[in-house]
Parts: sequence; structure tokens; C-alpha cells
Amino acid sequence: MSRSFEAARARAIDRGMSFIEGLSRRRGGLEQFGSGLLYCCSFMAATARDPGLQSRASALTVDAFRAWTEQRSQGLYDGTAASVTTAAQAFDAASRIGFTYPHVRRALRKLALEHEVDEYFSYDPRVEPPPANVPEICECGESNLRGAKKCTQCGARLEMVPAMRVWYLSFTSAYCGSRFGVPLRIRYEDVMEWLPTMRKYRTPKQGDVAFHDSVYCITHIVYTLNDYGRFLLSPAWLPQEYEFLATHWATPIENNDPDMAGEFIDSLRAFGLTENEPAIRYAMEYLIDSQHTDGSWGLKEGKIDYRRFHATWAAMDGLREFNWTRAGLSFPKMKPKLLSWAKGK
Ligand SMILES: [Zn+2]
Repeated sequence: MSRSFEAARARAIDRGMSFIEGLSRRRGGLEQFGSGLLYCCSFMAATARDPGLQSRASALTVDAFRAWTEQRSQGLYDGTAASVTTAAQAFDAASRIGFTYPHVRRALRKLALEHEVDEYFSYDPRVEPPPANVPEICECGESNLRGAKKCTQCGARLEMVPAMRVWYLSFTSAYCGSRFGVPLRIRYEDVMEWLPTMRKYRTPKQGDVAFHDSVYCITHIVYTLNDYGRFLLSPAWLPQEYEFLATHWATPIENNDPDMAGEFIDSLRAFGLTENEPAIRYAMEYLIDSQHTDGSWGLKEGKIDYRRFHATWAAMDGLREFNWTRAGLSFPKMKPKLLSWAKGK
């Protein structure tokens, strides 16, 4: 390992962290980046190998969580399923640095039962596959019901969310709920039952959007199964996903997309590849070179928005060291299923 690579890597992580600290101190920063910011800090605090990074991330989690709860001093629940999901996510994030909230968990568990499954996920994963008729939020800002073709507010034709994205958003939400002990009516494992059906991943040649959804679907399978960086995964559990990542890792670099490159690298490393692997090393060097002078990554034009924050988060996860010590699953009972699905059964 050359010293100059290690020094450049450490410097990039340090500058990235300073950028994220700056965002969280900004007025309105927390509203803009929401539970994403909380998660970014708490995952880092829970899984970073470097003690310095760990303690900075921990301090930031405490501040961000305090600000998040202060904003909701009137109550966590506004009568919607979305507010239950958001609260479960925020408290799950805080629980990763050791806070426990048994009373909040109990209260949320009751509130979660006030809503039907499709209010959380737009469909019911127990009885149907992820659907292809969930509309995107309209450009006018209106959310329309599943099946709608035109916006009820402005009449515009609606685009549909691809089924693969519907699925990975649903299993990621279900994971957050299950992880905090507040099932959103169903368990993470129920949503993952669709893995064999949804495994029709698309290559870059099959279109940018389809490829993009395939990548983020796969990385979120990795993250939810390895508890966002806590465990290593065996390629034998997810051979199709591993193969896809190992085949297409260079595409985001060719497209100058640090967000996606970061997701590829930490996912491949979760499968046990290290920076001694030329592909991983090359991708890390790309990340170091594509950082902006303010410490961020991603689109440079315009105001700093969620995408730039997310790209910075993903790039830092691509570069930083994880504290994993062994292979494991956040839901260990899924192992026999994964093995049998891997064989196409
Ligand atoms: Zn509209």
C-alpha cells in the first residue's frame, strides 16, 4: 500500500466529513436532508474502523438527532403512515449509537397498526409482486394514487415508478421498521420473498434508467442484509448480485458518477474484496480525484441539494474502512432461503 494513496484517501475522507458537518450546521440543513443525514452519520459511527471518524460521526448523530426531535416537539405522528416510517427510521438511526427508546418503540408499534400495508409500500407484498403502476410524484408536487394516469391536481400525464424501484424502496423501508422493532405491518423477509422474481437486472446497454435501478436495488439488498456495513457477506448467498457488481463496476467511472461508484465499491468490499484488488483500488482513486474542493462529491452546478449530499455519503462509504470482522446477515434466518434462491429454486 503506497503511503501517498493512503494519505490522499485519509485526506479525502476528512474533507468529506467536514463538508457533512457543515451541512448539518446549516440553517434548514436537517429539514433538507432529513433522516438521510441522521442515517449517514449513525451508520458511520456504528461501522467506521477509524476511531477519529467514528467519534466525529457519533457527535454529529447526537446533534442531528436532537435537532430532529426538537423539530417534532409537538409529536412524531401526523396521522399518516409516512410519519410512522420516518420516526422508525430516525429512532433506528439513534439506536445505532446506543440510545434506547422502549417507550417510543411501544407507541410506534401501536401507531403502525393504524395503517394498511399499501399505505406504507403502495402495494401489499404478501399477495402481489411489486407493481408497475405506481405514479411518480407529479411535477406540480401532487402525489397521486396507484393506477392514476393523469394528475388529479393539474391534469398532467404521470410517469410510472419502475417496479424494481418500488420493490427496493419497499424492502428498505421494511428493513428500517423491522430493525427498530416497529414492523410496518409486514416483515422485511416478506418483502424479500420477491427476490427470485425481481432478479432480472439490466445491463448498461439496456438503458440508463433500468441499469441505475438495478444497481441501487442490488446495493440496497447488500446494505439491508449486511446491516449497513456491520457484516461481510458471502458471494455464495447472492451470486447474481455479486456477479453483476463485479462485471459493471467501471460503468459509473466511465459516466463520472461518484455516487454510483461509491455504492459499487462498498458493496463489493462487503463481499470481501479489498483495496488490494486492482478494480477497487482504481475506483477509489477515481473517487479521490473526483472530490470537489469543498469536500463534496456529485453534481457541482446549482445549490447543494440532496443529491450532492447523497453522493458525498456514498463516496465516503466507498473510501472509508469498515469495522467488519465476520460474515453474517442482519436477518440470519434468511440464509437457507438465499442459498436455495441462489440455485434458482
Ligand atoms: Zn400535477
